Amino acid sequence: MTVSVSVTAHHGLAAHEVVLLLETDPHHGLTGPQVAERLGRFGPNALPVSRGAGVVTRILRQFHHPLIYVLLAAGGITAGLGEYVDSAVIFGVVVVNALVGFIQESKAEAALEGLRSMVRTHAKVVRDGHERTVPSEDLVPGDLVLLEAGDKVPADLRLTRVVQLRVDESALTGESVPLSKDEAALPEAIPVADRLNMAYSGTLVTGGSGAGVVVATGAETELGEIHRLVGAAETLATPLTEKLARFSKILTVGILALAAATFGVGLLRGQDAVETFTAAIALAVGAIPEGLPAAVTITLAIGVARMARRRAVIRRLPAVETLGSTTVICSDKTGTLTENQMTVRTVWTPGERFEVSGSGYVPDGTLHDSQDRTPALDSHPALRWTLLAGAACNDAAVTEHDGRWDVVGDPTEGALLVAAAKAGLPAGRVARVLPRLAAVPFSSERQYMVTLHRDEAAGAPAAGTPAAQVVLAKGAVERILGLCDGQMDAAGDITPLDPTAVLRAADDLAGQGLRVLATAVRPAGAPDEFPPDGFGEDTVSGGMVLTGLQAMLDPPRAAAGAAVAACRTAGIAVKMITGDHAATATAIARRVGLLDGREDREGVVLTGADLAALPAAEFSEAVDRAQVFARVSPEQKLRLVEALQGRGHVVAMTGDGVNDAPALRQAGIGVAIGGSGTEVAKDAADMVLTDDDFATIEAAVEEGRGVFDNLTKFIAWTLPTNIGEGLVILVAIAVGTALPILPTQILWINMTTAVALGLMLAFEPKEPGIMTRPPRDPGQPLLTRGLMVRILLVSTLLVGGSWWLFQWELANGADLAEARTAALNLFVVVEAFYLFSCRSLTRSAWRIGLFSNRWILVGVTVQAVGQAALTYLPAMNTIFGTAPLGPDVWLRILLVAVAASLVVAADKRLRRGSV
Ligand code: ADP
Ligand code: MG
Repeated sequence: MTVSVSVTAHHGLAAHEVVLLLETDPHHGLTGPQVAERLGRFGPNALPVSRGAGVVTRILRQFHHPLIYVLLAAGGITAGLGEYVDSAVIFGVVVVNALVGFIQESKAEAALEGLRSMVRTHAKVVRDGHERTVPSEDLVPGDLVLLEAGDKVPADLRLTRVVQLRVDESALTGESVPLSKDEAALPEAIPVADRLNMAYSGTLVTGGSGAGVVVATGAETELGEIHRLVGAAETLATPLTEKLARFSKILTVGILALAAATFGVGLLRGQDAVETFTAAIALAVGAIPEGLPAAVTITLAIGVARMARRRAVIRRLPAVETLGSTTVICSDKTGTLTENQMTVRTVWTPGERFEVSGSGYVPDGTLHDSQDRTPALDSHPALRWTLLAGAACNDAAVTEHDGRWDVVGDPTEGALLVAAAKAGLPAGRVARVLPRLAAVPFSSERQYMVTLHRDEAAGAPAAGTPAAQVVLAKGAVERILGLCDGQMDAAGDITPLDPTAVLRAADDLAGQGLRVLATAVRPAGAPDEFPPDGFGEDTVSGGMVLTGLQAMLDPPRAAAGAAVAACRTAGIAVKMITGDHAATATAIARRVGLLDGREDREGVVLTGADLAALPAAEFSEAVDRAQVFARVSPEQKLRLVEALQGRGHVVAMTGDGVNDAPALRQAGIGVAIGGSGTEVAKDAADMVLTDDDFATIEAAVEEGRGVFDNLTKFIAWTLPTNIGEGLVILVAIAVGTALPILPTQILWINMTTAVALGLMLAFEPKEPGIMTRPPRDPGQPLLTRGLMVRILLVSTLLVGGSWWLFQWELANGADLAEARTAALNLFVVVEAFYLFSCRSLTRSAWRIGLFSNRWILVGVTVQAVGQAALTYLPAMNTIFGTAPLGPDVWLRILLVAVAASLVVAADKRLRRGSV
């Protein structure tokens, strides 16, 4: 039996025809053996790993660089002049450079690719009649997939059932307004964007729910098609690398002009044309910092890997840079600053109050009143209904595995189940007493959940006939109060609602940092007052009876306090944004040190209502000043980000829901919560926290700062070599003497030191004070004035030292090759010494400890071996025009290097902190 997936017009068929065609079962889905067989035949549901362009193209692309053109031209002309060895060296360098670039680029890409797979997507399917969650890669044609708001569509589906399903297809069609989906068959000839009965892989479910049969997986999907067309070449470009690319292009042009001028001057002065030309080439190759782009990419890639190790997965490379200049972190409360480990502590009903013992999700514990008596539920109807509503108006489950109790679903709801179980109402019993007929699930905008049940025990207050229906609701106190006009007293009688007393009780509980939910019931008058089919958000808008409150503890995360304090020291403001009650939020904020003694001040805590009432002119100022935002709706998050950005902040914002996506996109760093977050939020985010922990954001900021430091260090280290080499040649031509260093020798220096020495700075550990200084201004130039002075200083030392040594050797009987070899080695040795200084921009090389970055030592050793080979191997002597040196020459080289290092150290000390 073979399943046909070659029919592409699945939208033209009725849903049951598609089911037949794909030999699946509309209710039970595929069977295990079917899945295994199809997986073997169709392969995993994943896009083929795009290597972008082919290897050859990618290598060729390495030659597409102005500097390489200069080198190629130089190599060609040198060959034309009969200097075959020089020409070969130049071409050799070009090839080596391309290979190194290619390898580095591939490595960086592979690293990013690996990260992407860390954030795995899962799909809900029905197989063998059971609902289960499987990795999206394991889907096969014929699988029955369930969709709900927040999911990413895992494959191309022909929808078989939709309930207000809305899908954002911008990934596919560019159209960002979500489409309402439908299940009816459509004419075959309509375009993809209009096929309302299909849900396409990679698009995002923004609302409602649905189910569909997989009709195409992997490369066969519409997304796969697009992928194939564009080749999906992910670029490694970030604002910084682009800035550097522009910088080096301008530099190249400038240097070429200078080289041409040098050539002209040399000719005018009557110097030998070939020699002058060689000199001009030397100037050009020396002065261009060819290692820079590669070093930037590598440093960024290493930063990404370090962040991943600390459980922050970067989804967009520019985020690495932005993180370093973050000035405000807006964090969720629940789950990010707190553990999201909820335990009901107190149950309040009008007139009574009970404490709950036990902790975690283990249903061991009891309810007791202030006299330590355990209440019998039959004689406490309000308590009974509060627990029942909490447990029945609930989508979670609490499971036990080897003595470990866990929540499947929302921890808030898990806590309500446990509380009911402790009082003798386990979930199974609740489901029997109150079978559910319909539900409107909780959402952060609505802040409550309502369900419709058949009341088997007919115990609802004032219920008419047996087996009548009952509506249950639970949610934020203010919202539930809005649905009620009565409340249940201790005896179970309905009395007029006393909102003030309820709110006072809620405020009191919230003030202890507890998360408070109110519950309400409404007995149906007639058994069929609410037909389950039409049960929706607006069905119940009043007439309910408030039964009580449940207050749960969600302890702050262990590391949150320290991380908040670290952010503050680092000049980063932390703001809490939550849908929870202001008093709960304030109490938790105080506990993690977020309020810092400012809690009494006006405007430190703002609610969503406060925000809505703020005049536009005062909005951004008030937002900047506030620390805690409570009862905030997801839409308001976007306004918050924009207001903060308007005040010049670089904002990191966390989010997990579908409606958080706009704010995540707007923020400089959108941070999605890995565990509980929706695919929609992850898709919009720049970074995903795999452990949901606030401390991870702080860690990522720290790493981001480290990356920037290391880039600055590389630049501070590499530019003096280039400027020094260029100047040496310029001076030689201006003075009219022989070149102290030949073009091929300059190529040697640039190529070997960039890889063996400079790149090692990318492995430099973070400086100790990295989180005690203010965030980097994103507008700040890469080269600050202090840095520029340092670079010019070292360049001057290099030029002066090599010039002196070159002349000294010549004057003391050395031949040209020896003198040049001495000058060349001086450059490398000074650079090696200077490398240790560059390991910290402000602290002295001694302070950091010589051995704290082993890579540096490895690099220096490799470079030393290279220099020995260059100096003493006859073959190298022939190729590079070098000559063996005596020990006294090395002594002079070392002397100059030590002297230069002392000058740099003095400069560092004098201008401490200004670089
Ligand atoms: P946050 O995630 O910032 O804590 P939420 O939007 O999850 O905020 O919750 C806001 C309020 O909605 C809570 O204070 C609580 O009263 C109520 N609430 C939270 N979860 C649920 C739920 N599953 N069902 C009903 N109400 C809920
Ligand atoms: Mg929540």
